[in-house]
Amino acid sequence: MIRKTRLFTPGPTPLLPAAQFAMAAADIHHRTAEFRALYTKVLAQLKDFVGTKNDVIILSSSGTGAMEAAVSNLTSPGDRVLVLTAGKFGERWTALAKAFGCAVDVVSAPYGQTFSIDAVKAALKLETRVVFMQASETSTGVRHCVPAIAQLLKDQNHEALLVVDAITGLGTSHLDMDAWGVDVLIGGSQKAVMIPPGLSYLAVSDQAWDRMEASYNPRYYFDLRKERKNAKNGESAYTPAVALIAALGAALDYIAGQAATAENPAGNLAEGRKMLVENAETIAAMTRAAVQALGMTLFAPDAPAAAATAVIPPAGVDSGVVVKELKSRFGAIITNGQGEMKGQIFRIAHLGFFDYMDTIALIGALEQVVAKSFPPAGFAFGNGLIAAQKLYAERSPTAAADAKCICGRTDHACSLQNPSFGTK
Ligand SMILES: *Cc1c(COP(=O)(O)O)cnc(C)c1O
Repeated sequence: MIRKTRLFTPGPTPLLPAAQFAMAAADIHHRTAEFRALYTKVLAQLKDFVGTKNDVIILSSSGTGAMEAAVSNLTSPGDRVLVLTAGKFGERWTALAKAFGCAVDVVSAPYGQTFSIDAVKAALKLETRVVFMQASETSTGVRHCVPAIAQLLKDQNHEALLVVDAITGLGTSHLDMDAWGVDVLIGGSQKAVMIPPGLSYLAVSDQAWDRMEASYNPRYYFDLRKERKNAKNGESAYTPAVALIAALGAALDYIAGQAATAENPAGNLAEGRKMLVENAETIAAMTRAAVQALGMTLFAPDAPAAAATAVIPPAGVDSGVVVKELKSRFGAIITNGQGEMKGQIFRIAHLGFFDYMDTIALIGALEQVVAKSFPPAGFAFGNGLIAAQKLYAERSPTAAADAKCICGRTDHACSLQNPSFGTK
């Protein structure tokens, strides 16, 4: 058998062919009218993709660069900040804030779970300057409830800024930055927007821009005020990753085009984003149904993210076996657990350029691995596929939007967050 390599990893994710072509053709200088037209277009598209009226800044860095920019631009040494963490990326906030001299309070939840809103309430101090969190914790496959935290700050009329690493939250869950009052929302290129690593982007509220003027941690390359000033003229402060910006424009065209109509053949980014979210939610739910039908356990059953599904193999089986077998036999690249979760879980991504066909194929390959390496009692080929097929056939197109939030609130519509959805 030949093998076609396919990524099922939560960043980098599979590349959109149209974005690859745009990248190859992007032979332009960054101080020209051509580039200014491209940059201005992509910045406007990104606003629509994020769904915000706030200015969006693009940086030439991986996602962590934007996380660092949020810390360095918004804090001063000695500032008290609160980090909400339940995995490796939450821990990155703590490390970054400490690196910039902040006094860090931490609310943590065990890996595989989300934190309780009451614990956050208890940890929030009058002098807390910034709250840092993830929308989705990619290392454990958990979704956090961003609007509940935003509401908590609003209810207290609290001056703390809310900074959300939505690097795998964007394009996989409903996020309404402006209505909820999120101050900084961060995305990355190698995730839901289907292009290679190398760009990060941040949407920044007026309050956050004001805070930057008063904060005095050192910053130079990642000075967001400088980028904002240049962006107004269609340029970036330094040489940008021109090819990736061209790719991003093509990818956002594609996402908008998913919602094309006869009257509007170019589509619409807000609608296209919703379809992308629904796509991730659907294939995540198919995957959850399938792995359970194959005798495995979800690592994050109560608040599963649509970005990636983390799966615990049967007792005594190293998750690395699944990673290795899928790659060597079928060319399918999934990820192991990170850090101390290595060997305990494997992760399958759903964000970005994945569809029904990819998902069914991966579940089929997973059945082959289970059959050969650790078949459960009563194993039969097709059990995982049947569960996924049924879920797909019975799922309503608005299932994610209609689902109730895990935090129990009814005044906001986080997509999905309904633990029983797709697992029964
Ligand atoms: C991928 C990812 C990041 C960024 O990692 P980089 O390697 O710097 O791009 C940050 N947060 C989350 C939740 C992620 O999934």
